[in-house]
Amino acid sequence: MKASKFFLKTLKELPHDADSINASFLARGGYVQKNMAGVYALLPLGFRVYKKIEEIIRREMNAVNGQEVMMNILQPRELWDETGRWQKISDVMYRIKDQEIGLAPTHEEQVTDIVRRKVKSYKDLPLSLYQIQVKFRNEPRARSGLLRGREFPMKDMYSFHASEKDFENYYQSVTEAYKKIFDQMGLETKLVAASGGVFSEHSHEFQVLCPTGEDRIFHCNKCDWAENKEIAKVKDGDKCPKCDGWVVEAKSIEAANIFPLGDKFSKAMGATFIDKDGKEKNMIMGCYGIGLTRAMATIVEVYFDQQNNKMVWPKSVAPFDVEIISLNKNDEAEKLYQSLRSASRRRSNLNSDDKVLFDDRDMTAGEKFAEADLIGAPKRII
Ligand SMILES: [Zn+2]
Repeated sequence: MKASKFFLKTLKELPHDADSINASFLARGGYVQKNMAGVYALLPLGFRVYKKIEEIIRREMNAVNGQEVMMNILQPRELWDETGRWQKISDVMYRIKDQEIGLAPTHEEQVTDIVRRKVKSYKDLPLSLYQIQVKFRNEPRARSGLLRGREFPMKDMYSFHASEKDFENYYQSVTEAYKKIFDQMGLETKLVAASGGVFSEHSHEFQVLCPTGEDRIFHCNKCDWAENKEIAKVKDGDKCPKCDGWVVEAKSIEAANIFPLGDKFSKAMGATFIDKDGKEKNMIMGCYGIGLTRAMATIVEVYFDQQNNKMVWPKSVAPFDVEIISLNKNDEAEKLYQSLRSASRRRSNLNSDDKVLFDDRDMTAGEKFAEADLIGAPKRII
């Protein structure tokens, strides 16, 4: 991709209403544009990062036998009345005025409706469905840039099982898949026990240690024990409940969460199956979420170098692998660009996008370098 042809519009000034590192960096670098509080558009640079995050997540969800679907944003009230959540989460769910329709903040009701109409026997279980789709949540205090939005893309997967034991094994395999996802994005996560909120009794969060994080967790300095401060019965400096290490308090960002749902939804909505023993039973369910733009924002919070005003993306999610900066218009840079470009085309398949950005614009070296610091390609050739 030639920079002269690319829709790349960085801002010289910090946006005045940016409330976090991720919001100010992503707006300034031309990755996103704010439409209203908690609602951001992805511009070409941001969409490239987004697509890479999406591919990492999709690959790992397919690896744990998740099957991709696309459910709906418009939700009929009847479905949500079955679980009582039309009333219970009315503060979170956007409603269409004078109609019995809401915008989906999550999809347990719809996915349970799909499965109860199709699955009748233990032979159809386990089953795991996921989608990557925009969610709507009425956050009165949308803040922290893309970390907490009112409209945001999310991967949500729902699993259905014949037994608690089968569910537990699957929950464990998704936990490992999530670890892999965040490792690939360059994020080191702690698996943290947490409360379930409005959705279930307890849950697990994937927390990324980060000094700008809004969450507080306790973790062990030796083993993998960790708990959200909200539910923890220990304090900083206590002995670890699992080993002879010490409990440390840390700031963190919640990157994802997973919930055991038990038979809460299947019981309320009659999602039953006939088991091997001929008896009718409720399906056991789990749900597993990751916000994609939240992941992008978390990477920025961790990797943006505030002191030098510079970003270097982990290669797996970088908008471009390589940026070539030509200081004076010369054929050599053009030649290098063409050869890198055809090499990357040969390696990946035909529909692969350009991995190389060539800044061929008529600008000063200083301007080009300042922009390159915002594009954050892992490799730069001058
Ligand atoms: Zn420990």
